[in-house]
Amino acid sequence: MICECHKVIFSDSTTHKYLCQNKVNDSLMTMKEYYNICKHIDPPVEISTKEFKRLEKLWNERGYEFYIDEKTKEIIFV
Ligand SMILES: [Zn+2]
Repeated sequence: MICECHKVIFSDSTTHKYLCQNKVNDSLMTMKEYYNICKHIDPPVEISTKEFKRLEKLWNERGYEFYIDEKTKEIIFV
């Protein structure tokens, strides 16, 4: 699996499948793979507790393992 984000033309929906984030959404890529492979990840952003709970539920459903880095508060996928 390689990052193909550079192939995405946002005005052309047929190319959206190349976006790593969409591959994650379609379960073609795990979050761990996403962080290891994708070269176009946006800088970390703060998310609300509500948003975290939503994502946590989704990730648990998909069996993704992760932890919160105590220092940086970043979500690390293992
Ligand atoms: Zn990518």
